[in-house]
Amino acid sequence: MNPELSQLISLQDVDVEIKRIKAEIESLPVKRNELESQFATENREFLDLKQQLDEAISQKRHLETEIEAEQQKLEKFKTDQMKATNEREYSTSVREIDNARKTIGALETEVLKLMEQVEKLDAQVKERSPEIEAKRQQLETKLAEYETLAKTDAEKLEALLAERAPMLETLGSETRSTYDRMSRIKSGLALSEARDYKCLACRMTIRPQVFNDIRRGETLITCENCGRILFYRE
Ligand SMILES: [Zn+2]
Repeated sequence: MNPELSQLISLQDVDVEIKRIKAEIESLPVKRNELESQFATENREFLDLKQQLDEAISQKRHLETEIEAEQQKLEKFKTDQMKATNEREYSTSVREIDNARKTIGALETEVLKLMEQVEKLDAQVKERSPEIEAKRQQLETKLAEYETLAKTDAEKLEALLAERAPMLETLGSETRSTYDRMSRIKSGLALSEARDYKCLACRMTIRPQVFNDIRRGETLITCENCGRILFYRE
């Protein structure tokens, strides 16, 4: 085979791989964002639930503190009642004791409601927690895979580019410019395989005489239709 042709075939193989790796490198941040936003959506509901739980707990604590304060007042009113020296002081303390008891009763009802709510929310959080944790793990594993892939891709790309440079130098300037031009026009595929009397890139039928010449591979033959350099693979 014409040494230039075999060099061109190798060059195209390298270029196809370079193109694939570049596309993969570009796709990785997009894939990563997709996974992260998917997880964020799944996690949002869980975080909402946790927030509701935290709020119910802190509201319950707040009411319990209020009850304690009311109870202290109640104790004071009871002392006032015992110390009352006249009817007016006595009836005032009775009214105050009564009010404080009512307030405490109402607060205790609220606390009970909150306790039920906390219990319910806590159960929901515990139920969903393992699933979310598993999803978080999956996400982290996948992100680590992408990171490794990005690193190996960058290394491969560098190696391929280093491999490509000397390949170009062995080509004649005319062949090189034909390859560059066709590669640009045909999105990286300057060469096409000829098989069964057809150009595999554009499906154009190749005349038997031309096909035999391609098969011998002594000269560079381009497709009459798409202009790609044709080659035959055993
Ligand atoms: Zn063609």
